[in-house]
Amino acid sequence: MTVHLNRPSMFTWAHEMRCRRCRQDTPHVVTSYVWYGPITTCCECGAVVIDGELRRKRKSDVYAAMRAAALWPTLPRHTEWSRWLTEAVNRPEGDL
Ligand SMILES: [Zn+2]
Repeated sequence: MTVHLNRPSMFTWAHEMRCRRCRQDTPHVVTSYVWYGPITTCCECGAVVIDGELRRKRKSDVYAAMRAAALWPTLPRHTEWSRWLTEAVNRPEGDL
């Protein structure tokens, strides 16, 4: 029996980038998808950007920031993300 998953292939990694809310360079947790825009979470303020749209500020952003900051040191970096993306886009259709 073959099991098909419809969840898009994704990769979570650590990156330093300009936060749209803090307006400074901060650590971010980035979840990248092959065919969709990334979801980024600022480790300082918890700002979440989904496919380029800054999500409205929530009380839970403080927890999002804490989770992201705890996760950040354990995550792969840009080089591993770049390798994952190259492999993912070159994978035959149906293997995502
Ligand atoms: Zn921020």
